[in-house]
Order: sequence, then C-alpha cells, then structure tokens
Amino acid sequence: MSATEQTIEGHEQRRVLVIGAGGAGLAAALEASRAGASVTILEAAKQVGGATVRAGGVIYTVEMHMQNEAGVTDTVDELYAYYMTISHYRLEPQKMGVEFPPKGLYIAGLETRPRGHKASGDTAGLGPAGGAAIVAALLRAECSVLLRAKNGATSGIETEDGEEIKADAVVLAADGFGASSDMLARFYSNASVHGDWHWYIGPSENRGDGLEMGLAAGGMVVNENAGVLMETPNCSSVVDAFTPPWLVFVNNCGHRFVNEMASYCVLGNVIGAQPNGRCWAIFDEYALTVATEDPVFTDPSPTAKIVKADTLKGLATAITIAPDGLVATFESWNEDVKKGYDSTFEKPPTMLLPVSKTPFYAVELGPAIIGMTFAGLRIDDKARVLNSAGRPIAGLYAAGELAGGLIGWIYSGGGVSIGMQLHSVVSRAMVLPV
Ligand SMILES: Cc1cc2nc3c(=O)[nH]c(=O)nc-3n(C[C@H](O)[C@H](O)[C@H](O)COP(=O)(O)OP(=O)(O)OC[C@H]3O[C@@H](n4cnc5c(N)ncnc54)[C@H](O)[C@@H]3O)c2cc1C
Repeated sequence: MSATEQTIEGHEQRRVLVIGAGGAGLAAALEASRAGASVTILEAAKQVGGATVRAGGVIYTVEMHMQNEAGVTDTVDELYAYYMTISHYRLEPQKMGVEFPPKGLYIAGLETRPRGHKASGDTAGLGPAGGAAIVAALLRAECSVLLRAKNGATSGIETEDGEEIKADAVVLAADGFGASSDMLARFYSNASVHGDWHWYIGPSENRGDGLEMGLAAGGMVVNENAGVLMETPNCSSVVDAFTPPWLVFVNNCGHRFVNEMASYCVLGNVIGAQPNGRCWAIFDEYALTVATEDPVFTDPSPTAKIVKADTLKGLATAITIAPDGLVATFESWNEDVKKGYDSTFEKPPTMLLPVSKTPFYAVELGPAIIGMTFAGLRIDDKARVLNSAGRPIAGLYAAGELAGGLIGWIYSGGGVSIGMQLHSVVSRAMVLPV
C-alpha cells in the first residue's frame, strides 16, 4: 500500500492503523474514517469486541435527553466536581469537557449529496462485495512492535508474522493488562498480591501489548496500581462479587469495617486496605438455613472453603483472627439487630440477620477479581501519547482502557469506561496535517 492516497478533494489521505477492535478501537476507527482517513484495524482475537463486547453496556454520561425525560436534574459541572473530588484532584482536567458541536449533527435521510462510501480493495478471498474489504481489515493480526521513523515519529507497526504495515498515525486501543500476571505485578500490585486467587473477567488477549508498545516508543505510564477489584471467596471462576447483603464482614481484628452493601466500585479496595488485604464473611446456622431456602442466595460454589465452629471464639481461633474482637463485634451486632438499627454503618434494617445460632461459619474473601486496569499511557487532550518530558510522540495515539489518567484511582460508577471510549478526541488530531 502507498503511504498516502489521494482523496476526491485532492488532499493527501492520511493512513491510520488502529490496534485492537474493541470499543475504543472501533470508535477511533469510525471517527478517523469519518474525518477522511484510510483506516486499517488489527485485532488479535478471533472475534472483534474485546472487553467491550462482554460489558454490561452501561455508559456514564450527563445532560443527555434520557436524564431530562426521567426528570433527573444533572449537569456537566456537577459531574466534573464529583469526578475530580473522588479522584482527589490527581487527574489532568484538560481531558474533561469533550464538546459535541452542532456541526457534528447529521441529516438522517433525503440527503441532497451522496453519502454512501463503497469499500474496495483487498478482500482476502472473502468475496467480491465491498463489505468483504471491510471485514478483511478486521482479520486476525497480533501487533507487537511499533515502527519508528528516523525522526522518532511512529511510522507503522510490525505484526507477529513480521509483516510491516506503514501508517501516518497509529492508535493503540488494545485495552489494559488484566490477563497478564507479569504486567499486573509491574503496574497493579494490589491485584497481583493475591497470587493464584486473582483472575480477570475480560478476554485473554488483553495482556498489555499496547502498553508495552507505547512504552517502547517512549511513552510513560500514569495511574499505576489502580483498577476495579472485586471480592471473591475464590471458589470458582464466577463473578461472585455481589455477596448476600446480610453477611457480616470482619477483618483480622474481628471488627466490622464497611457497610457490606457498599458499591463494587469501592468494596474491593476497602477490603484490600485491611490487614493482610483480606476479610472474613461471618454468618450462623440461621442465615445458612434462610439462604438455602431462598433461591436468590443459593450458592452453587463448593463448601470446602467454609470454616465452621461451635462458638465465635472457636471460629476466631480456627481462622486466626482476634477472638475478643470477634465476640465483642457480635455482641454489639446482635443488639443492633434486635433494635433494627445498624449503629455502625446503617445497613438497612431488612438486611440485619442475627449471628447467634450455633454453629457459626466463616468464609475468607479477597479482592482478587480484576474487572479493569487503570494504569496506562499518558495522553493529552488530543489522545496523543506523551513522552516522559510531556511532549507528544508524533503519530502515536492511545484510547480506551489502555489510556491512563482518564478514570483516576476510583471507579466512580458503572459505565465510566465505555463513556470514556466513546468520546471522540482521537480522530481530529490524527487527520490534521503534521
Ligand atoms: C465483563 C465486563 C463487563 C463490563 N461492563 C462495563 C459496563 O457496563 N460499562 C463500562 O463502562 N465498562 C464496563 N466494563 C469495562 C469496559 O468494558 C472496558 O474497560 C472497555 O470495554 C475497554 O475497551 P477497550 O476498547 O479499551 O478494550 P477492548 O474492548 O478489550 O478491546 C481491546 C482489543 O484489543 C485486542 N488486542 C489486544 N492485544 C492486541 C494486539 N497485540 N494486537 C491486536 N489486537 C490486540 C483485544 O483482542 C481486544 O479485542 C466491563 C468489562 C468486562 C470485562
């Protein structure tokens, strides 16, 4: 392929390579294509979609008509204040405030100008239709090396098979590194510390290849040691983070430390901050009976991990936590249950079950299920990858979970990640002449 192609208007057409066909990569490709670039997407997996295709599809956003229709009053300013507050003002604010100017609006039909673009070119034997050329661009290809021109600019990539693909701009959109134990040890030790307990809910291709490529090109990592960690008893590879709300969590001192119904956005971090980074879920025979009778709480996991004892002191000894602390905690807890009021963390009265009927049970929980990783390449407001001096590396962009510093240290709510992917900061910069 030639380095540049001529568009109908006579301008040079910029060639853009997107690494990773998940949400961020596809959004970047779409925007680059809309802006007139010639786009090639390379994807390591057999199917496109990455973590995005597995996601709940929640998008965190504000001032959309759906909120208005639901009678919700909310503003960009309020979201900004909330986001910066929970991120302890450690994010770079210029990345906020993406605009959606009126000129970006489309006429949906009855156009007076031709807008259909028929694809052409190599179809990799997939058939004569223009659509085959599009699908061919999504064929399986793993990228491992970024090519660089003599002036340091990114000039393309080399695939695992050694094929060199030249481009004016490369967008790294190969997600985070939840599937790589090595990368977790380097950039997310709070997760890797759980050893063989930890596992990642996303696809196995998300090993941090894009991050490695960006680092090798001179990029820098920001937002280290953060992500979404969810608690698990490590019984099976099921996302069992949504534990029954009536469980009582205690730490090694035998003390409660959280409202057990706290959001998954923070619960894993709170557990991780306890001594040993673990906690114990405590319940009694009564709760076990209720749970077994209620299909909502029936857990198919093996019971081998459940520790059982006739007294609370005996249970504390068996799990090597402070016996006096545990006994004191449940004296006060059972008093609260009688009053119907959780005097420590105000858990709703309907979720308060006594812990008084022998035998007593304990299950260890660790925040070891990795939902997302936040460490990533530092970018600017145009999604350009920055070097350690804070200067853009020519021709190199990053988007999605691979881009660091967009989410911060705390997941402020379900939908933040996909919300971040879909903002279109990437293409404008890519298609401008260098
Ligand atoms: C089960 C689950 C549920 C979730 N639910 C939500 C939700 O509801 N809302 C929300 O905001 N977030 C959610 N998240 C998080 C969110 O889905 C991800 O943060 C986001 O989709 C990441 O998008 P991405 O485009 O950066 O990466 P991905 O969508 O993972 O795409 C990256 C792509 O790059 C490819 N790739 C990797 N290495 C290479 C390589 N060397 N060469 C070529 N290609 C490569 C991968 O195969 C993959 O297809 C969820 C995550 C999971 C796993």
